[in-house]
Amino acid sequence: MASTQNVRYYLAYWFQLGKKLVLGNSGELLLPEPVMKDGTYSSQFEECWRRISELKGKDCYLEGTNSTINSLLSSAWEISPCARCDMPIPVIDLGLPSNTCPCGDMAHWPNLELPQPRSPVSTKKHLNRIKGRLNSK
Ligand SMILES: [Zn+2]
Repeated sequence: MASTQNVRYYLAYWFQLGKKLVLGNSGELLLPEPVMKDGTYSSQFEECWRRISELKGKDCYLEGTNSTINSLLSSAWEISPCARCDMPIPVIDLGLPSNTCPCGDMAHWPNLELPQPRSPVSTKKHLNRIKGRLNSK
């Protein structure tokens, strides 16, 4: 089962490449802009996440995939890097990749000339974590 944190991170990465989220049966498409602000998720992203949460992720999925957010949060899925493009994708917990990396229909991706999507983790927090790890040794 993928953690909420990992699913948010998965969505945030793909939103940065312009992949939209299909919201439930209405078929409404969401794409928060910007995805991040000041080293954390933007209010637009939080609003999008709130709407997904309202539906418990049911019938919500990233365009071009068939893994619903609900199934990611409730069954044997984990978020791991895609073998082709290194972006976070859902894999079955046994280490089997799904055949549904959203990069499948993106002929121009991976593109090393573009800035890579990133996680809204502030550098400071990251450094503190490394420092914490060093101190615990
Ligand atoms: Zn991929």
